[in-house]
Amino acid sequence: MEHSMTEEDPNGNTTLAPVNASVGPRWGPTHGGARELASLYTKWKRVQELICVSVSAVLMGMNVVYMAPYVRWETVPTVGAATLASMFTADFFSGLVHWGADTWGSVDLPIIGKHYLRPFREHHIDPTSITRHDFIETNGDNFMLTIPFLGYLLHGFVTLPRSHLISTFAFRCYLFALTFMIAVTNQIHKWSHTYFGLPRPVVMLQSCHLILPRIHHRYHHVSPHETYYCITTGWLNWPLERIKFWTWLESAITYLTGAKPRDDDMKWAQKRQPTS
Ligand SMILES: [Zn+2]
Ligand SMILES: [Zn+2]
Repeated sequence: MEHSMTEEDPNGNTTLAPVNASVGPRWGPTHGGARELASLYTKWKRVQELICVSVSAVLMGMNVVYMAPYVRWETVPTVGAATLASMFTADFFSGLVHWGADTWGSVDLPIIGKHYLRPFREHHIDPTSITRHDFIETNGDNFMLTIPFLGYLLHGFVTLPRSHLISTFAFRCYLFALTFMIAVTNQIHKWSHTYFGLPRPVVMLQSCHLILPRIHHRYHHVSPHETYYCITTGWLNWPLERIKFWTWLESAITYLTGAKPRDDDMKWAQKRQPTS
């Protein structure tokens, strides 16, 4: 923990004197790599995020309207169990996607590199940049992932007979809760980096470990960022670390492809000075 970043410093990067001033800061907004990565955020990416948040929010609202009549006293235990299961599932997938994006690929890859891997690279060398991102930039990509699932659910509510919807309610409830948890995962992640002015209910959820707590997520932000990838609730981080899940997965991929984990991440971390 002593090697994690001092996030109480509100991203001024002032409490850390660079090891060697001529090399540049080790992290923060003045890090050369962080500045270069931040500059790669385009207005077209922003438009995509805006569209995805809007479409997903509309689909979510419509699903709530269609699903509401099926929620009754006798289905409350089903809703509770489905929500709990969705929290575990979302946590696992948050870890899997985060691990994949942190560990493999490169910002130079066409389309996915600049638009979808870039934020992961930026986040490691300027971790609190996320706290300066607005709702759209923070959540656009997560909302995008939910659209096919919400579309599938809505199509079912509109076209399937009521008897079929009742018999599959538990599954539909689980899938809807899962899309919700996926949608809010990066907002939860942002809150885990926010040390000032968080709403009281958010701090309470963090304190009860119902969402990712701040201190818990700091285990991930220890270079070389090779563990504690789950960022929805963080519940699976300890068990996955115990069984060395990520290490085994990386060994298998390196064996099969010859690729070296975190190659691109290391490359960006070393770009301490601006390139121009
Ligand atoms: Zn990471
Ligand atoms: Zn983080």
